[in-house]
This record gives sequence, C-alpha cells and structure tokens, in this order.
Amino acid sequence: MSDGRIGRQADVVVLGAGIVGVSAAYATQRQGLSVVLIDRREPGSETSYGNAGVLSSGSILPLNKPSLWKALPDYLTNRHPALRWNPAWSLRNAAWLARFLGHARPSQIEPRAIALNGLIRASLKLHREWIAKADAVQRIRETGWLKAWRSDAAAAARAEQAFLAEYGVASEVLDRQAISALEPNIVPVYKVGLLHTGTASVDSPGAVVKAYARMFAGLGGRIHASEIRTIVPEGGAWRVVLADGAIVARHIVVALGPWSANLLRPLGYRVPLAFERGYHQDFEPNPARQLQRPLHDADGSFVMTPMERGVRVTTGVELTARDAPSSFAQLEATVPLARGVAEFGAPIGEPWRGARPTLPDSLPMIGPAPRHTGLWLAFGHQHIGFTTGPATGAAIAAMIGGQDLPFDVAAFSPRRYL
Ligand SMILES: Cc1cc2nc3c(=O)[nH]c(=O)nc-3n(C[C@H](O)[C@H](O)[C@H](O)COP(=O)(O)OP(=O)(O)OC[C@H]3O[C@@H](n4cnc5c(N)ncnc54)[C@H](O)[C@@H]3O)c2cc1C
Repeated sequence: MSDGRIGRQADVVVLGAGIVGVSAAYATQRQGLSVVLIDRREPGSETSYGNAGVLSSGSILPLNKPSLWKALPDYLTNRHPALRWNPAWSLRNAAWLARFLGHARPSQIEPRAIALNGLIRASLKLHREWIAKADAVQRIRETGWLKAWRSDAAAAARAEQAFLAEYGVASEVLDRQAISALEPNIVPVYKVGLLHTGTASVDSPGAVVKAYARMFAGLGGRIHASEIRTIVPEGGAWRVVLADGAIVARHIVVALGPWSANLLRPLGYRVPLAFERGYHQDFEPNPARQLQRPLHDADGSFVMTPMERGVRVTTGVELTARDAPSSFAQLEATVPLARGVAEFGAPIGEPWRGARPTLPDSLPMIGPAPRHTGLWLAFGHQHIGFTTGPATGAAIAAMIGGQDLPFDVAAFSPRRYL
C-alpha cells in the first residue's frame, strides 16, 4: 500500500500504521493538513491484525481490577490459562508489577471506568461511521459479544450487568436455553451468559485497518514503508530518520503500539510500558455450524471469533518480554476447550503472537509529550486498542488542530508517567 512519495516535508508524520496510527493519520488529514504515515510493514499487519476483532462496549474494567486479588493464588501457580508469567521477567520488573497491582484497589475502579467509557463510546461511534465510509461495512456485525460461564455464575453475571448498567452499558443475562437460542450451533456447555448487546465485531481486523488506510490515502495522505530509526528535534520541527531517508515535520505522532517506548528513550522519556502477550490460531470453518458472534469463555479464559477465513481462537495473557521466544502452552490448553464448544476444522497457517501494550494503570497515553513541542503520544491501549483506535486518533487530530475533543482526555495524559 506504500505509495513511495514520501517527499521531504509534511505538517504531520504519524509513526506506526496499526489501528491507532491509521486513525490519527486519517483524522489529521481530514483537517486539511499534509500527513505522512510510516510503517515498516503494510498497515494493520501487527497487533491490529491478530486481535479478536471485538469492538467492545463494555471493556471498562481492565485486568488490574479488585477481583485480580482473589484470582492471584491461582495465577501464581503459572498454570492458569488466563495468565502466565515469566519469573525472571517478573523479578526484573517487580516495580512495574507493584504499580500494576496498586491499581487493582477498589478506589481505582470508578475513575478508570469513567475514562475508558468515554473513550470507548466515542470510538464505537467513529468505527461505525468510518467503516461505512471506507466501503467495509460488510465486515462489521452488530450481534454483540457473549461472555459465558460453564459454572453456575448467575450471581457474577448479574453483578457484572449491574456494574455495566451504572455506566450506561447494556447487557442481557442469559440461561442455558437462551444461550442455545442465540448460538444454536454450539454445544450447550454454558450455564450462564452475559450478552453485551452494544458490542460489535469485525470479520478481519487487519482488513479494516487497511480499509481505513485506503480512505486516508484517498484524501491525499501519503503512506511510506520504511524502518523508523530515530526522531530528532530540529529548529522547531522534527526530523524523522528512516532506513531509506528522512522527513521533516512540525508534528510527530508516536503510535508504534508495543514498540513505542524504544523510540522515546533517547529523548529522555522512560515509558513504563509492559506487554500482555497473546496468541491466536485460525481454524477452517464448518459452514454448517457457524458461530454468530465472538464468544468469551470465562472459565476457559479464551475468546473465539468467527472471522472471514475461519474461526479464530485467542488466548489470555502472557507477561514476559515483548520479544521473548513464543510459548504455546496457553493455546495448547485452550484449543481443546474451544473444540468442545464449536465445530471447526484444521488449523490455518501457524499460530500468531502479539503484545498488548500496557501501562501500569491500564490506560493509554493520549496527548502531548511533556517536554517537547509537536511530539504527540498515542499508545498503550492494552486489550482494547482495536476498539479505541479511532477516538484516540481523532483526539490527537483535535489537539494538533486546537479543536474540541471527542471525549475527556484528562485521565490519559502522558504527564502521569513522564
Ligand atoms: C490476542 C489479542 C487479542 C486482542 N483482541 C482485541 C479485541 O478483540 N478488541 C480490541 O479492541 N483489542 C484487542 N486487542 C488489543 C489490540 O489488538 C491492540 O491494543 C491494538 O491493536 C494496538 O494497536 P496499535 O496501533 O497501538 O499497535 P500496532 O497494531 O502494533 O501498530 C504498531 C505499528 O508500529 C509499527 N512499527 C513499530 N516499530 C517500528 C519501526 N521501528 N519502524 C517502522 N514501523 C514500526 C509496526 O509495524 C506496527 O504496524 C488484542 C490483542 C491481542 C494480542
């Protein structure tokens, strides 16, 4: 998709063409600025490719919530499918883990839920608008997201429903019969379900990002494929040094997902970014026994999503270094569980691995870098970056253009860590 026309100057250079960078590039280009989007790969080829495709209305409680304390003894065994952790990494990053756990206190629920709810609502609105504009509306399914329990978790489902309702997020509690009516092709292993009715999903997250990138290019935006080496302040502007040249711009947006911290280190910013790694495996579909929506198995700690090319099974979290060798233990534990629920065929291709970029409070950074003019930060979207990319991009564009913000960004200020 790279057009090779990088030029030597632009108003804005966006670094990283995942959902966040593509959204920032599109929203900024719409304001009439000249924008160049740079990535070493095609847009939507990394984390924004391999996710579960859920556009989640209800993900307002991050992993570090009070119930984490109760689950901790199980997690410490390092055998739970929801969370695996690397002991050596954990020792080296004990301070990060302590900060992350510090946010699991009850007092930390409300401010983060309010902040994430604002970001999510604004983003879902934009996704629905943009996906139609990008000629990709056939990719979105307004069928909700089903969280389901094998255990008798009716009280937990009702408590979650009441919590979500406080923030205006709609959901329905379902019993075994209602789950079967909704998903007639799955084995009735679930006793209780919670259907997030305002959640949507897409059948190919990577294709959606590419469609948004084409929309950006259609407005005159330039896409350039290159390795980004470094960024250097230069006479009130920025020089972006690439493997194949350089470009100067007044504004730089850092949207490099899990790679964002590396680029900022030489400027004196120590970003406390960690990685909740996750895996997926796609499988041949059985067209006669299709799933209708993404399904989150609460006890098995996996998500199963019907995708364009088959069924995608995604795992829970692996806490370790971003680039540590893959361990397929979680996939190996969850695939048999998924096969016990839905019918699907042979694996398609190899297992995929990605890294959810996470800050200690599980809120992304969206805003200006504290000590540099024209440097904008947009990363750290943990489990919900595919959902929240568009509003993040729109907020960055509004800040650059001095316009009204689409949601309250105060909680996402980079100043809280930098
Ligand atoms: C298993 C799993 C399931 C998930 N499921 C969901 C879900 O259902 N819903 C949801 O909302 N979120 C989900 N997420 C989270 C979501 O995928 C991420 O939060 C989101 O994709 C992050 O987007 P991004 O644009 O910040 O990063 P990325 O998509 O990773 O984009 C960063 C880009 O930067 C580029 N880059 C990095 N360094 C350089 C360099 N030096 N030079 C050039 N280019 C560079 C990369 O090539 C990449 O394209 C899931 C994540 C995982 C791992």
